[in-house]
Amino acid sequence: MIPHVSARPLDIDTFVSLCKRRGFMFQSSEIYGGLSGVWDFGPLGAEMKRNYKDAWWRAVIQERDDMVGLDSAILMHPRVWEASGHVENFTDPLVDCLKCRQRFRADQLEDRICPQPPCPNQFTEARNFNLMFETTIGPVQESGNKVYLRPETAQGIFVNFEHVRSSMRRKLPFGIGQCGKSFRNEITIGKSFFRVREFEQMEVEYFVKPGTDEEWHRRWIEDRLAWYRSIGIRSENLRVRAHEADELSHYSKGTSDIEYRFPDGWFTKVWGEIEGIANRTDYDLRRHSEYSGKSLTYFDEETNEHYFPYVIEPSAGVDRGVLVALIDAYDEEPDKDGVRVVLRLHPVLAPIKVAVLPLSKKEPLTDIARGIRRDLSRHWMVQYDDTQAIGRRYRRQDEIGTPFCVTVDFETVNDHAVTVRDRDTMEQIRVPIADLVPAIEQLLAEKAAACAG
Ligand code: ATP
Repeated sequence: MIPHVSARPLDIDTFVSLCKRRGFMFQSSEIYGGLSGVWDFGPLGAEMKRNYKDAWWRAVIQERDDMVGLDSAILMHPRVWEASGHVENFTDPLVDCLKCRQRFRADQLEDRICPQPPCPNQFTEARNFNLMFETTIGPVQESGNKVYLRPETAQGIFVNFEHVRSSMRRKLPFGIGQCGKSFRNEITIGKSFFRVREFEQMEVEYFVKPGTDEEWHRRWIEDRLAWYRSIGIRSENLRVRAHEADELSHYSKGTSDIEYRFPDGWFTKVWGEIEGIANRTDYDLRRHSEYSGKSLTYFDEETNEHYFPYVIEPSAGVDRGVLVALIDAYDEEPDKDGVRVVLRLHPVLAPIKVAVLPLSKKEPLTDIARGIRRDLSRHWMVQYDDTQAIGRRYRRQDEIGTPFCVTVDFETVNDHAVTVRDRDTMEQIRVPIADLVPAIEQLLAEKAAACAG
């Protein structure tokens, strides 16, 4: 694990401003005043999000022989959401402050005090507010055309359980994973992008024989915790919290959240959920069987019986995960110009892996540097930067977490070699241009090992 220098609590405004200034995240439709709870990923954010999902897909699907992937549609038959219990149960308790008229989630109000002082703490009675967005399908807006934007990707997996099992010839235990957009009309949205209304999830539904479910639940909790460490999230900022009985969702026999310790003062609670790992029992397959009239049981050839498999569901948020990876990587260290800001991102997540920086904007350096950029970009995301002093350019790359900078200097013309600078140690080594690709490959592998916990 690469040690951090700064113990200073990260200020939320500094962080949001970095995300915007460097092209990680922008508020949706900002030129029109923004849309609450909706964010766009800028060029670097889009790269990082793709890297984050790829790292998940590789660990959870590609490297396991008991998993397959899926990409189900956002819009589904409305009966799906009746069967899943979302029409009835996917609600939050909503209250209105009688003075300022703002709406809040009753269960998130500390001591029933309106967070907009100086309001007296008087609220309407709590009423259930369904978080699903509704829309209509087809050109005629009439009853029977109502559909929902899915609030989780899981149901797309359950309704395809039998198709996937039979087409992939799977036996228990096996799982189906997918990444995709989900939508929730959240009541209260904070200042940053922790809780948003449009987001992506990476979800696994892992089907097991009843009776083996608790063991698989434990194994998935351990695996998922290890994954966050493997992508560089520091262990001291991660914990597992089991839900109390009164917190459990209607389908759950037991849920444990993987939580991250956010910087002090960001949210009302310091520890926030980044992934929930639930034992959903056979609730979903049983309900879809009842509502659709189609059999969704599994025939166990060993015991000669039909039964509904139990399901373990590790459900992670992409946007929240990217947020956590950025926060966790943020570091500041003193240097001669004041403070060096550096994102100590795991190279797998870093949006740009290598920057190519020629010391002059003229030939022959630019010609050589452009050739290097072209070669490296066949392997990695590369940024070419020839503006301003080299020190400023290094700082810019540090601030976006680029693991290595390649500097093309005046010596390069004679020795056909370049300087490679390490983001974390700032050490520089001389590498022949002809060896650059394998050298960077090696350096990235070493940094990945150093970043993983
Ligand atoms: P919370 O209690 O924070 O509302 P939840 O328990 O309803 O979350 P789940 O239904 O377990 O969340 O969803 C799984 C994951 O999806 C969460 O751990 C989180 O990472 C992500 N997620 C859920 N809702 C949101 C949201 N509104 N904005 C961003 N990510 C979300």
